[in-house]
Amino acid sequence: QLHKNPSPLLQENMYLLSFLFKAVFWGDIALDDEDLKIFQIDRTIDLTQHSNERLGHNTGIVLIIIAGFEQNNTSKGRTTVKFSGKNEKNRFPRAATSRTERIWPGGVIPYVIGGNFTGTQRAMFKQAMRHWEKYTCVTFIERSDEESYIVFTYRPCGCCSYVGRRGNGPQAISIGKNCDKFGIVVHELGHVIGFWHEHTRPDRDDHVSIIRENIQPGQEYNFLKMEPGEVNSLGEPYDFDSIMHYARNTFSRGMFLDTILPSRDDNGIRPAIGQRTRLSKGDIAQARKLYRCPACGETLQESTGNFSSPGFPNGYPSYTHCIWRISVTPGEKIVLNFTTMDLYKSSLCWYDYIEVRDGYWRKSPLLGRFCGDKLPEVLTSTDSRMWIEFRSSSNWVGKGFAAVYEAICGGEIHKNEGQIQSPNYPDDYRPMKECVWKITVSENYNVGLTFQAFEIERHDNCAYDYLEIRDGANENSPLIGHFCGYDKPEDIRSTSNTLWMKFVSDGTVNKAGFAANFFKEEDECAKPDNGGCEQRCVNTLGSYQCACDPGYELGPDKKSCEAACGGLLTKLNGTITTPGWPKEYPPNKNCVWQVVAPTQYRISMKFEFFELEGNEVCKYDYVEVRSGLSSDSKLHGKFCGSEVPEVITSQYNNMRIEFRSDNTVSKKGFKAHFFSGMEQYPHTPVGASGCPLTGWSDHNFGMKMSGFFAYGFPGSFELVLFT
Ligand SMILES: [Zn+2]
Repeated sequence: QLHKNPSPLLQENMYLLSFLFKAVFWGDIALDDEDLKIFQIDRTIDLTQHSNERLGHNTGIVLIIIAGFEQNNTSKGRTTVKFSGKNEKNRFPRAATSRTERIWPGGVIPYVIGGNFTGTQRAMFKQAMRHWEKYTCVTFIERSDEESYIVFTYRPCGCCSYVGRRGNGPQAISIGKNCDKFGIVVHELGHVIGFWHEHTRPDRDDHVSIIRENIQPGQEYNFLKMEPGEVNSLGEPYDFDSIMHYARNTFSRGMFLDTILPSRDDNGIRPAIGQRTRLSKGDIAQARKLYRCPACGETLQESTGNFSSPGFPNGYPSYTHCIWRISVTPGEKIVLNFTTMDLYKSSLCWYDYIEVRDGYWRKSPLLGRFCGDKLPEVLTSTDSRMWIEFRSSSNWVGKGFAAVYEAICGGEIHKNEGQIQSPNYPDDYRPMKECVWKITVSENYNVGLTFQAFEIERHDNCAYDYLEIRDGANENSPLIGHFCGYDKPEDIRSTSNTLWMKFVSDGTVNKAGFAANFFKEEDECAKPDNGGCEQRCVNTLGSYQCACDPGYELGPDKKSCEAACGGLLTKLNGTITTPGWPKEYPPNKNCVWQVVAPTQYRISMKFEFFELEGNEVCKYDYVEVRSGLSSDSKLHGKFCGSEVPEVITSQYNNMRIEFRSDNTVSKKGFKAHFFSGMEQYPHTPVGASGCPLTGWSDHNFGMKMSGFFAYGFPGSFELVLFT
């Protein structure tokens, strides 16, 4: 979180990031082009000088373009910074966005959590989102095909976000490692929802003083104020307690130096500012106004609860509109039971009615529309959310309605993908719970299961709390595992299209539980064509890979296998052959062997068998032998045909052998031996005595040379050239 004593490094990253992404930041807020227009940017300030000073070199980058404000230094050293505010149309009523296109339609904010976060972090993001849902009418949903959505990700800015909905695709909400705290994520989500920082309100000077001399040089723009315009059009008073307020020492030159000082209140006390614990009453009130949340109704997140029409049982007012949203843990279902129903009865429940929808919002499938005095049947959701809307327009006086709900865990799931969590996850699961899930995916598929998080009371035999998983449709199916403790189970795959899971908690010690994703999984390798793999097929969850037997390597199509060839050889001696030896070499191969010996050594290459396509020209298939390792090193020869080349000795201690075959006519190829020796060898091989070895010819290979490499080695040893 940049505006809380950000590290210099983080700030520099921010500057650099703002260049790389052509973004401009205001504290932890990423500003887009429209924001800049709103701010009536009429000049630019280059903050890179400052940045470069600390970077210690001139990056030549010009960035950060905040401007369009005046600075009036008073004699007291205080400063007032103002936007010029020429644009009367774009005023900022309080710290909430006034731009309707920045409001998320229906308060629905689709999200994606990037892949690099831990289970704990993901759980915390969800808790922060649920915190906003609990007190307002915004809803965070996992993105399916929505065009605009937020992506939890990690960018060098640390923690940063845009204000409101940008539209036209994904927008980042960056959560860095130093700011992955619940309260900070709630703050960043506040930006996403549409809030600027509280201290930038037009009326802030009535409530706080900005102490300019304590602000880190170059960070003054973080304390800019928005233009008055229609002050308090949302009617909320200045909120010291807002989670969107800076702390007293944000962007301070020193830990104990105030940059923002709240004015004393009536009792002479300075209110605390900068809390990052929870939404304040003011935050809640503002968000509810911004999203026009109905005054009646609430978000219910407990696993059991009840609600009733206003005034129950003494009648409800006319022209009432209430919305209740029930949201329990994914993997749970909601069972809703009306205990009283006494509404004005009309045809199609035209006047007064209650609607129950199976999902998170007003467009979710309708489970029923009710009026009159007949109690509806028990209603059950298919997922973990339910939407209940009540409207009255009659002047009729009835008791109203009352309902109770309960979250039930487990159940039969017929879906090809989804999420299962232990009840109440990521908060501690409850005691004495038993949940059984039976997952069924489409026929001819298997069920794949991956865990994001796992934390169940540890016990050697998992005797207390546990998760049991079976390969099939019921409790008698083969056991896959009986899990507890803190290690995530490996990925799981059933052998049929069903998977059975049971979670059990005893009366004591409750932990966060688990979160897992299931999906339809296909064993591509079980198909008749072996997944299209020439040799081996390795199935993975959600995918598969082809592999090759030893001595072969995967071809460019990632399915076929070709004889492996080439490589870096550092042994003193060895054998190389064309791929596929002793069978014919394959077409279109290019093999490069690089042989490296110790310094002062030279390498000799002796062909034992040689048969390549071609004649003197070596246009088609050939072998090139070079001294050195690169393709332009000294060439000793380019060979083809069936004449066995002479022994070749390198200039220095390395050698390159390249074999190439074209797309026609394959022959048997070659088999060659290489061996490394000191300078003299093998032109004039010397024995242990130092006398030259004579009779150097083909039949020397295979002989044992005792003490041959004694020089330079501690003690003599026997070298077996070839056996
Ligand atoms: Zn912020």
